[in-house]
Parts: sequence; structure tokens; C-alpha cells
Amino acid sequence: MTDHASLHDAWDREHLWHPYTSTIDPLPTYKVDSASGDHIRLADGTDLIDGMSSWWCAIHGYNHPAINEAITRQLSKMSHIMFGGLTHEPAIELGKMLLEIAPPTMHNIFYADSGSVAVEVAMKMAVQAAISRSGDHKKSNFVTIRSGYHGDTWNAMSVCDPVTGMHGAFGPALPIRYFVEAPSVGFYDEWQPEAMASLEKTLEEHHDEIAALILEPVVQGAGGMRFYHPQYLVEARRLCDRYGILLIFDEIATGFWRTGKCFAWEWAGVQPDIMCIGKGLTGGYLTMSAVLTTKDVADTISRGEAGVLMHGPTFMGNPLACAIACESLKLLRGQDMEPRIKHLESIIMRELAPATSLPTVKEVRVLGTIGVVEMKEPVNVGEFQKLCVEKGIWVRPFGRNVYIMPPYVITDDDLVALCRRMISII
Ligand code: PMP
Repeated sequence: MTDHASLHDAWDREHLWHPYTSTIDPLPTYKVDSASGDHIRLADGTDLIDGMSSWWCAIHGYNHPAINEAITRQLSKMSHIMFGGLTHEPAIELGKMLLEIAPPTMHNIFYADSGSVAVEVAMKMAVQAAISRSGDHKKSNFVTIRSGYHGDTWNAMSVCDPVTGMHGAFGPALPIRYFVEAPSVGFYDEWQPEAMASLEKTLEEHHDEIAALILEPVVQGAGGMRFYHPQYLVEARRLCDRYGILLIFDEIATGFWRTGKCFAWEWAGVQPDIMCIGKGLTGGYLTMSAVLTTKDVADTISRGEAGVLMHGPTFMGNPLACAIACESLKLLRGQDMEPRIKHLESIIMRELAPATSLPTVKEVRVLGTIGVVEMKEPVNVGEFQKLCVEKGIWVRPFGRNVYIMPPYVITDDDLVALCRRMISII
């Protein structure tokens, strides 16, 4: 066994804060030299097959020649310009392309910096619209489903699952939201109408305090990697309409074909009032997100007390990020994505199936290019990743979930090797 000692930088360990790790006893980090396609090359030359798409965003793999060229083209014009009072072609072109693939009722687009900020903006939109429409400041809270994850900023945290999320660390500092049971019927199971009881009861009792229902459609990601029945969205839409509550879909993780559809709302044919996208938007090249909404919501906000949506970040509509996103969308448009994802899904299903019979495994779930092996006990991330690096794969589990979300460019051979090596570690 090699210990990859040369890959663990002592200065980094002492001074750089990596996500969700202690400064006293940090999880190991591996130094990367470069990445290309579905491969990551570590500083000592070790080659890893990428199973993570860099937290689900590098959908075209790394170092893509067409995106690299789009960056160079845009860079020679301008990398950034303020969006207040100015606009530019990459922002306009991206907006037009997004409206072509978004739910048909989407009409106005707000560009934001990251997934979490998109969620903040969506929640601000909902509150401003609800107050403007009802004339009542009381209608400003949120309801969400358990096992969700929506990001690390303040309001986003407040609607993450109260147990697996960050409520424990921040407690009373967070606004108190309404939580209903996570959808109980699985994606592949038979629909049970009782699954709506918890949401129905909460809306019936508290609708006059609630501006919006926020949820991740069909796939709940970082809150537990759960796949639920699309009919839940149909019923949730009906309840929101009945009680005058806006519906926000957080498609930051599910967007751009990850679940097998361009966006997960398509599984149910149900359109939200507000939709957040991010991650794969720039093919994983730069941080950028967008919040889309209907003309009705946008104009209701504009008719309200403030008369404008109260948000406007410095790097809003960054031209470089917009140009990259345009190129990424062109790459998706240039391929027949549905059969491509189906093909990858069938390999993941076939290769992960043997894990079902392992004594340490609770369940195996696959949808689109998401393959999850849920263990009976929590996984030791540091130990697991050490074994992954030794076997030449990159996988980062959380909680009890060992999962892959590879780039769509992954070769069949690499995908098979990724799954088999992962199972051999499990
Ligand atoms: N919403 C969902 C569904 C996510 O999966 C994530 C990130 N994992 C976020 C929001 C937050 O995005 P970001 O990390 O870009 O702030």
C-alpha cells in the first residue's frame, strides 16, 4: 500500500479550510495536478477515474476543448462588467437558451453567484411576491419536506433537513420553518395518496403564514440521496394552488440531465412558480446560478412596496460565466441526451446490482447517472477515500451513502471500472 504522503500538503493542512472538516484533525486532502475528460491526475502522477463530477457539476468532464475555446474568446473581450445599467451578448444569449429548455411558464431570469445564493434569491422573491399579493407581512414563512438540502447560506440552511442538516450547529439562530414528512413513496414504487397527508395538514393549518413550498423535485441530494415519486409534485402543485402558496423547485442538483430528463420537473409535467438552477449550468467551470420565475411572480414583486426585487450581487451575470454556460448548453443541445443518460444508467444499474447482497449494504438506488449504495452504518470518509485513491477512483461518500455521479463523457470501460472498484472497497 502506498500512503501518498507526498500528496498531503502540510501548509494546506495547517492553513486552508476545506469543506466540513476539522482544523484540529482534518480529513486528508489529495493534491491535484490536472484533470481531463473523466480523469483526475494527482500531483504524484496517480490517475483517478472521476465518480463525483466535482460535486455534480462537471457534466462534460474536465478541460473540454470547446469550453476552453469559448473562455478564451470571451476573455479577449472582457471577463467581467457590472450588470447594473449594462448588459451584454453572453447574458442575452444564455437567457434565450435557458427559456427554450425551462418550464414554458418561466419568463424572467435572475443570474446569481452560486446555488445557495440562488436559493436565497428564490426565497426573497417568494416573500416579496406573497407580501405584495396579500398585502400581509405575516405571509412570509416557508414549508419544506424533510431530508432536503438547499445550500449553506442562512435561509438555505433553514430549509435543509433539521436533523441531517446544520440546525444542530446553529440552533435558535436560524429562522423556524415548517417541515413536513419526506415523500414516502419511492420513484419506482406504486403511488399512495396518503403520502400527501403531512403536507396537506400543515398547509391547511398554516397557509396564511406561508409564502412558498420549496423542494428538490424527484431527487433529494445531499439531504439523503432519496428518489421519490413524481406524483408527489402533481399533488403538491394542486395543494399550493388551493392555498395560494408559491412552489419553488430547487433544480440545482437535478438540472441538466442528471436524473435522465433535462430538468426533474419533466418527470411530473408540473411547473413551479420559481426555479433555481446552478452546478451543471457552467459545465462545472465557474460558479454561477440562475433563478427563473413567471411573469406573474416578477410583476407582482414589481407592484409591491419596494417596487423592485431586492438583490443585486457584484458578479451578477458575469460575462465569462455566461459565455461558458452558453457553450455548455450548446454541447448538451448537440447530443441526443436522453438515450445517452439511459445508456449510462443501465451500466450503473447492472454494475451496482451485486452490492445489494452485501451484508453491510442497506439498499442500492439508481436514477439517471446517480448511483447510490446506502450502507447500514455511516462510512469513514477518510479511510474510504484512501482506498479509492489506491484503486484509482475518486468517490466521496457522506453519512451512510456511497454514491457516484460521473461526468456524462465517462467511457463505458471507465464506468464499469468505477463501479466495480467502488464495490470492492464496500
Ligand atoms: N441546492 C441543492 C439541491 C444542492 O444540491 C446544492 C449543492 N449541493 C445547493 C443548493 C447549494 O449550491 P452551492 O453549493 O453552489 O451553493
